[in-house]
Amino acid sequence: LASKIFKPEPTVVKVEDIEIGGSNIVIMAGPCAVESREQLFESAMAVKKAGAQFLRGGAFKPRTSPYSFQGLEEEGLKMLKEAKELTGLKIVTEVMDVHSVELVAEYADVIQIGTRNMQNFPLLKAVGRINKPVLLKRGLAATLEEWLSAAEYILSEGNKDVILCERGIRTFETYTRNTLDLSAVPAIKKLSHLPIVVDPSHGTGKWHLVAPMAKAAIAAGADGLIIEVHPDPKNALSDGAQSLTPENFETLCEDIKVIAKAV
Ligand code: PEP
Ligand code: MN
Repeated sequence: LASKIFKPEPTVVKVEDIEIGGSNIVIMAGPCAVESREQLFESAMAVKKAGAQFLRGGAFKPRTSPYSFQGLEEEGLKMLKEAKELTGLKIVTEVMDVHSVELVAEYADVIQIGTRNMQNFPLLKAVGRINKPVLLKRGLAATLEEWLSAAEYILSEGNKDVILCERGIRTFETYTRNTLDLSAVPAIKKLSHLPIVVDPSHGTGKWHLVAPMAKAAIAAGADGLIIEVHPDPKNALSDGAQSLTPENFETLCEDIKVIAKAV
């Protein structure tokens, strides 16, 4: 079902008035984690002003250490809803386990499956049974075939609105947090009809690499970007090192418009 042979025409995922996989570039931006009402609202207003269509922000956070900030959970989801009411931005947020799917789906416009859960088959099946678009991140050591098979789990349960997200893979390189595989963008376009967005924040781990890779992603044919933006990156509770300031994000959005026109 994910294959271009099965369905040659591109899938356009609609979220109210926004189309992902259509002719426009979609920008999703916001903090790694929802930390507080102030932090979220400040982020939301900044990314809205710069031209983003979606607010990202995790309420359930898959952290490497159990001692790191784990997210505000339902309280965070409620803040996302308030930020949506305030700005009109659509919400993309992660679900980590099967029993939270219904809860997260109540608040999210797009449900994110994180890299660590790309092969959590019960979770894939569960989001395949709901009526909400799914942003499926590439597993940190997944081949394109494994990634498309994960998408197949969702599609085969009936949910046709899958958006793929390249977010970097684990290689021997340690300078960057992950190795952003931009060749995945044209490769997926050849193999599948599903839209693909790129996450240069997790893909690099370093804020100064985010803008160049975001621009390269659009030049490579990506349908959109998901970018971490924080009003005060130095004091972020997670992923501050890869978060853009609102000012840098605004500059990037201007540059993206120019590149998008040329592609
Ligand atoms: C995130 O988007 O904050 C996140 C945890 O991403 P990934 O699953 O790609 O690491
Ligand atoms: Mn993050």
